[in-house]
Amino acid sequence: MGIKVAKFGGSSVADAIQIRKLRDIVKSDDAIKYVIVSAPGKRYADDSKVTDLLYLCKTHIEHRIPYEQIFQVIYDRFMAVEADLGVDVDIKAELRKIKKNIEDGASVDYIASRGEYLNAKIIAAYLGFDFVDAQSIIKFSDKGKFLEDTTNELIAKVLRKHETAVIPGFYGEKLEDGTIKTFSRGGSDITGALVARATGADVYENWTDVSGFLMADPRIVKDPKPIEKISYMELRELSYMGASVLHEEAIFPAKAEGIPINIRNTNRPKDPGTMITADPDISEDQIISGIAGRKHFTVIGIYKNHLANEKGFIRKLAGIIEDNDLTIEHLPTGIDTMSVVIDSKLLGNKLEEIIEEIKIQLKPDSIDVASDMTLIATVGAGMSARMGTSARLFTALADAGVNIRMIDQGSSEMNIIVGVEEKDFETAIKAIYGAFVE
Ligand code: ASP
Repeated sequence: MGIKVAKFGGSSVADAIQIRKLRDIVKSDDAIKYVIVSAPGKRYADDSKVTDLLYLCKTHIEHRIPYEQIFQVIYDRFMAVEADLGVDVDIKAELRKIKKNIEDGASVDYIASRGEYLNAKIIAAYLGFDFVDAQSIIKFSDKGKFLEDTTNELIAKVLRKHETAVIPGFYGEKLEDGTIKTFSRGGSDITGALVARATGADVYENWTDVSGFLMADPRIVKDPKPIEKISYMELRELSYMGASVLHEEAIFPAKAEGIPINIRNTNRPKDPGTMITADPDISEDQIISGIAGRKHFTVIGIYKNHLANEKGFIRKLAGIIEDNDLTIEHLPTGIDTMSVVIDSKLLGNKLEEIIEEIKIQLKPDSIDVASDMTLIATVGAGMSARMGTSARLFTALADAGVNIRMIDQGSSEMNIIVGVEEKDFETAIKAIYGAFVE
């Protein structure tokens, strides 16, 4: 029988009710051998995530503001779950130890990681699985760089000795001094993918509170269709452009071994969710897989006669951006024009300096800046080599009265990115969805 690795996100382990659902899922499938858990997330819309509360404790301490009340909320949540599930892992002693470490000046990563740690302890006992601390299998260098190969070997070696185990997500330790280091927020998805890879799992199930990815943001498009099957590459494009459900870094370990990722809903376990593989067999009539968009980009437009014939122009421009520690999102070009698209949040207050440098190094005839650009990616393996796709997309936008400021199509023909003004963002997404899906 094959192995499945199942990761449960914050809302799937938010309280005893959710953890009972987790147990039903795990116990109904003998193939699930390794379970990765997040810290308790939100139980209702305006609830707090335990990880956020833990970070808040640290901020309070740093500002010398009493943190005990916040810690008490965390304490009460874990004590209630332990009691409600009827397990005894001496959470009280664990919490006391954590509080002591916090008072002794524990690092922010240590504090933030304790939600996963405590949850995994409780859930392991409740399932009758072994508890394997992520600290013993996920390793980082002393500079905090994730050590992929070491980790991969360690996970395989350690888990070989455990038939079934629960592992806390989100963190590991620095190899040199054994201190805790976390991934970025939402990082339990990465832990799950790493365990799936190292154990050669047949499937990596990622249990959350939605029945998979949707073809568009439901806040913009009413009842968008779920995505049943999608490739790793398509999903990367959509995640990068704002479709959130899975941490974007979680795709790589699974992709490396061709392990399918199945996004599932803990609250609706019968729903098939989204299956992410290398090469999904999609039906002939499925042209696009999804639409995602991101706001807040700045476009610096550079105009100069004969720009296209000037050697080194792109190199110099890229150098200016690099010197400012920024990356270029897109670089649309014309004969006498070139625009550089940059994430406005990263750009911060560097714009003036960059423009000055462009003037000095590139001597343009003129420069203009648009700071209200949004980018919308229409993604689908079905678009490749299919004539008329872009015509359909652009007609839909024109019919909706949306002016396209920029166009970029990847060479794989798997995505078309358009830049539109912020006021047109929602209209454009609805129009594209209408043209391809409805
Ligand atoms: N608990 C962490 C967070 O809230 C990591 C995770 O849930 O994946 O970001």
